[in-house]
Amino acid sequence: MVRSTCLVLTLICIALAALVAPAAVAAQNDVSTHYLLARPLPASANVRPDMGFPYGWHRNHQSPIHHGMDYLNRRGTPVIAAGGGTVFYAGNDTEMIVGPQPNFYGNVVILQHDLSAPEGGTIFTLYGHLNSIDVQTGQTVNQGDVIGRVGATGIAIGSHLHFEVRVGNPTDYNAVRNPELWYPPLPGRGKIIGRIVDVNGNLAMGIRFVLSTASSVLPSFTYAEPSIPVDPMYGENFVYGDLGAGCYRLRVRGGSGYAYDEPICINAGQTIFLEVHLKS
Ligand SMILES: [Zn+2]
Repeated sequence: MVRSTCLVLTLICIALAALVAPAAVAAQNDVSTHYLLARPLPASANVRPDMGFPYGWHRNHQSPIHHGMDYLNRRGTPVIAAGGGTVFYAGNDTEMIVGPQPNFYGNVVILQHDLSAPEGGTIFTLYGHLNSIDVQTGQTVNQGDVIGRVGATGIAIGSHLHFEVRVGNPTDYNAVRNPELWYPPLPGRGKIIGRIVDVNGNLAMGIRFVLSTASSVLPSFTYAEPSIPVDPMYGENFVYGDLGAGCYRLRVRGGSGYAYDEPICINAGQTIFLEVHLKS
């Protein structure tokens, strides 16, 4: 009964989406995903990452290039395991260096998951700037277990959770992937995995782009340096998640106008891959 109701609702949604879809939209494709993890915070917290400082961005050289995503939350907010596994390390990163310098992440937890990336390599998750740590190295955890509390230890501007996904080597600062590629969009929302390419066919680095509707403008940035690892499955240079279902214009400024300005539509629960070719 539940299954047949869901099927009917799905068909209605598909029919409605077809009715409201504009005649001409940018080429887009559903893409296979590897959503193997959950978010690192409970639903009662702010679970949406700060898209003003996404993975791969350096705030116009005002910050070290970002190897994870930030989730702005009050000090003391519970942080949960994004997947089941074992605590690889729990402590301060002055004792074990896992970043570009000692005491970069402050109080940090690294979990080793019983999962592998599609290209091979064990998946690890890192939780930085914690106010306090609730687990010990070697301990087994289940997805959703509280492992610590949000804080601002190490090098942090304000209280937030810094979350990373690392593949293969848990202590390698350069073994990262964009965390947004590892968990699904929130219910009722969708996600774009994208490549913005310049006129020479190269990934366009550090480009500001906006996703806009009639009533809102959502800005973000592509990865700023070629050194930031991309996912071998996508070769992406940005990911924008938790987009409300509907149609947007994706715009990149260039010259006296736009180097790109095309519509893009996304359905609830959909992840699409988009390649953008800049005209200038
Ligand atoms: Zn961060």
